[in-house]
Amino acid sequence: MGDYLRPRDLDEALKALTRPCMVLAGGTDFYPARVGRLVTEDIVDIAGISALRGISDTPNGWRLGATTTWSELVEADLPPLFNGLQQAGREVGGRQIQNAGTLVGNLCNASPAADGVPALLALDAEVEIASLAGRRRLALAAFVTGVRKTALHPGELVTAIYVPRPRHAAHAGFLKLGARRYLVISIAMASAVLEVADGKVAAARIAVGACSPVARRLPALEAALMDRPFDKSLSEHVEATHIAPLSPIDDVRGSAAYRSEAVLTLLRRLLSGLAP
Ligand SMILES: Cc1cc2nc3c(=O)[nH]c(=O)nc-3n(C[C@H](O)[C@H](O)[C@H](O)COP(=O)(O)OP(=O)(O)OC[C@H]3O[C@@H](n4cnc5c(N)ncnc54)[C@H](O)[C@@H]3O)c2cc1C
Repeated sequence: MGDYLRPRDLDEALKALTRPCMVLAGGTDFYPARVGRLVTEDIVDIAGISALRGISDTPNGWRLGATTTWSELVEADLPPLFNGLQQAGREVGGRQIQNAGTLVGNLCNASPAADGVPALLALDAEVEIASLAGRRRLALAAFVTGVRKTALHPGELVTAIYVPRPRHAAHAGFLKLGARRYLVISIAMASAVLEVADGKVAAARIAVGACSPVARRLPALEAALMDRPFDKSLSEHVEATHIAPLSPIDDVRGSAAYRSEAVLTLLRRLLSGLAP
């Protein structure tokens, strides 16, 4: 057995991380990856650090502390901008998983099927990282670098996620396709944030997960939606060429061809669901 540390403040955690250690938050990815074998790594459990808890509304946007659980997110009083992320939260496992699992754990685990990543990409989120050397911020798209890979260096910890305030009224959504409706790993999922001014799309951010090693934004679709009237006809602008950044694979959950077809349907449903 390795050592188990449960620091009460961030400094203590960062000092502990100067030697090789695993960070533990809710443990809902950590422990299932170690079933049937002894945990030999030293562990720094960050769940007791109060400075990492909670969601705050700041002048520039929102700060979601690193130990914010899915349940805390889902129950938080947040503007419609967060509808997509909150919907993703409702579909992460069941209530027990949502009570323990954190958004940041979902990002740091860097699974291609992590439901939080597309929703946070559509929110243009940034990740705050701390080590004893200081703090840095990274766009989420630069943070998750591959399957189970992040831009974290040894000794670093994610302390928060930042979501910038949109310029216009925002409408957001999330749709997930699995082999059944709930308690399922995604075959594909999509999330969108549309900012609307004078009845037209003034900004569009759309991301798809489980169809590439890392969830991807779809810039050509975002461009195709710009200045369009914010109504049900938005879904008619989704074209097969828009999903070119994706590289779906065949696996036990679905074939690449099925995923490509399913994503187009998800995107059309997502857009028509957002519009009045
Ligand atoms: C039954 C079940 C169902 C699930 N269903 C879903 C689902 O539907 N959708 C989905 O996306 N996921 C699902 N998951 C996976 C998991 O619940 C989520 O990914 C969850 O958000 C992970 O958060 P956690 O706090 O438990 O992470 P942990 O298990 O504590 O950590 C995960 C990884 O992130 C690292 N880490 C955590 N926090 C930090 C930090 N602050 N800084 C640096 N590194 C950190 C850890 O070292 C570890 O490598 C499911 C899991 C189970 C067991």
